[in-house]
Amino acid sequence: MIIDCHGHYTTAPKALENWRNRQIAGIKDPALKPRVADLRISDDELRESIETNQLAKMKERGSDLTIFSPRASFMAHHIGDFEVSQAWAAICNELCFRVSQLFPDHFVPAAMLPQSPGVDPKTCIPELEKCVKEYGNVGINLNPDPSGGHWNSPPLSDRHWYPIYEKMVEYDIPAMIHVSTSCNPAFHTTGAHYLNADTTAFMQCLTSDLFKDFPTLRFLIPHGGGAVPYHWGRFRGLAQELKKPLLSEHLLNNIFFDTCVYHQPGIDLLNTVIPVKNVLFASEMIGAVRGIDPETGHYYDDTKRYIEACKILSGADRQQIYEGNARRVFPRLDAALKAKGQ
Ligand SMILES: [Zn+2]
Repeated sequence: MIIDCHGHYTTAPKALENWRNRQIAGIKDPALKPRVADLRISDDELRESIETNQLAKMKERGSDLTIFSPRASFMAHHIGDFEVSQAWAAICNELCFRVSQLFPDHFVPAAMLPQSPGVDPKTCIPELEKCVKEYGNVGINLNPDPSGGHWNSPPLSDRHWYPIYEKMVEYDIPAMIHVSTSCNPAFHTTGAHYLNADTTAFMQCLTSDLFKDFPTLRFLIPHGGGAVPYHWGRFRGLAQELKKPLLSEHLLNNIFFDTCVYHQPGIDLLNTVIPVKNVLFASEMIGAVRGIDPETGHYYDDTKRYIEACKILSGADRQQIYEGNARRVFPRLDAALKAKGQ
């Protein structure tokens, strides 16, 4: 089985975006604020938006199952207050749940949280609980910077985040560390802010003893870990100077990287530096980079091709990257598959 651990509902029907625009307009003028019931998207519309997009590409490229969360750049936690984020997260999570019900063999949901700048993350727990208990979510996306590029939240190692971690441990779910749209013009959203955040999250964990407090907490750092694998020597050297244990014990029981790296040399480097047990297959399609690479004639985000062509991986390594590691990092996914005899 090939599990893609990083997919977003980037192709949701236009009505969703229209509702969001009205919600945003309603922040300034409450008369414009839409009701949740104003958003009507039929099952047929959901089905079409998936069948002609993600599912078609999964079949073309040969992946079976996608861990599917709301569109990351649309989370935009910096907009409005907690109430705004709460209504928006509930709607987006419900849509991903409905997709998972319509295509139970191909999509399993992961939740966005109703984070809001300066608001205690504890407020996210009711939505998190609903998504796990009622919607069968197997993971969450945690935004380390709900300000959208101004980085004024405490680091991920701070006790500020502990209520979320306690729930993650209780439910045995991992978090993908995933920022949203940058509203800071210095950082391009998908070209800089995302990759900066991946690198920043790793370093926040490195300088801390977070995983001593939460030995079973698991973070999935997307986009191949940002700059982390490329600069592994720098991180090892910094850990050494900080008198931290070797990174293999300090971080690699808890931190995992996905394969959303869009060229062969990048995937080769990721797999040269990071142990196979810490790498999970992902493509993030249909996402940030949708074009065809003129050097190869294939889509940049067709990442399975790079895993297949990576010469240092054995067949058993690929099986771990495609399936085994995802089952280990997402135990609720493993349990759901086993319940279906898979
Ligand atoms: Zn993403």
